[in-house]
Amino acid sequence: MQQTPIIWTNVLLFSITTLVAVIGVPWYALTVGFGWFEIIATILCLGYCGMSITAGYHRLWAHKTYDAHPLLQWLFAIGGAFALQNSALHWSADHRVHHKHVDNNDKDPYSAGRGFWYSHIGWMLRDYPGVEKPDYNNCRDLQKNRIVMWQHRNYLWLTIATNFGIPLLLGLISGNILGMLLLAGVLRLVLSHHFTFFINSLAHIWGSQPYTEQNSARDNGVLALLTYGEGYHNFHHIFESDYRNGIKWYQFDPTKWLIKTASWVGLTRNLRTVPEERIAQARAKMQLQRAMAKVKQRPNAEQLLRLLEQEYELLLARMQDYYQVKKQLLQQRRQQLVAQYQAVDFKQSYREFKLHLQQQQQHWQRLIGAFS
Ligand SMILES: [Zn+2]
Ligand SMILES: [Zn+2]
Repeated sequence: MQQTPIIWTNVLLFSITTLVAVIGVPWYALTVGFGWFEIIATILCLGYCGMSITAGYHRLWAHKTYDAHPLLQWLFAIGGAFALQNSALHWSADHRVHHKHVDNNDKDPYSAGRGFWYSHIGWMLRDYPGVEKPDYNNCRDLQKNRIVMWQHRNYLWLTIATNFGIPLLLGLISGNILGMLLLAGVLRLVLSHHFTFFINSLAHIWGSQPYTEQNSARDNGVLALLTYGEGYHNFHHIFESDYRNGIKWYQFDPTKWLIKTASWVGLTRNLRTVPEERIAQARAKMQLQRAMAKVKQRPNAEQLLRLLEQEYELLLARMQDYYQVKKQLLQQRRQQLVAQYQAVDFKQSYREFKLHLQQQQQHWQRLIGAFS
């Protein structure tokens, strides 16, 4: 028997929205039907909510992987309230504890060690004793951010204004208020909730672990599709200061693309990445550990283990050489580029000064001529 008290607000919120999404929405679709405007508006709202959480709450505020222009921060603050996942301050406080004590059933607020249900949604339904309650001491930096604090203070009315106001406004535009409330209001909220919750549950259960086995986080390309790139969770848990989650060009990480694209127009700055060498080292170490575990069962294990270790050391040495030279090459290119700019500057100045001198000489000659 569970003795922990139920958090009724959350239970009612999740139950009512889920019931409306699984009964009300299909019923309306079959009896009245939804138009393209409702469907497209819902997809856009879903993306806005989702990316406000992944690019805003998660990669900007919880992990500080880049700096964002206030305009973008306001957008994320409003979108985060629309996503109804608590204030950015509260969310980040929880999330920082999750990273610090990942898989620790007593400290991690949504520890995957407690199973799928608990890490997905269960942790929000009951007031579990023992699990550390965030006191925001781990978010002193965010407490200095006026946008984060404004959202925190005004969170309740912001969630009501966005969750009712935006679908209502869209309904007034399309002329179908009920349809829009059901689709962009309720279905969008339920999908947005579970897509994010998958990162705490499935992304710690299902997928590969190419970088580390120190925690339960997994890389999962299918989950990345639903979570705007956050499915590459194994990479994220070992390199949390990196603004990317999917680091390869073919990995689906629209949150990374958004942050990168925004940097071209000055909306984001100081995008932080982990040195390539550290990523390659982590991968190689993981491969070595797996190979060693397999080799141990072979009859000539000792000999094979020695070979593996030798080749691994050689690989690390080659990596070091390669990445060092690569770094120098990049530095050299940067210097060459600066030198080229300076050369262009010089030529420009030379031409300007030459012209000024010629003009003054003519002027001087005319003046001298006048007195001769
Ligand atoms: Zn994280
Ligand atoms: Zn995690």
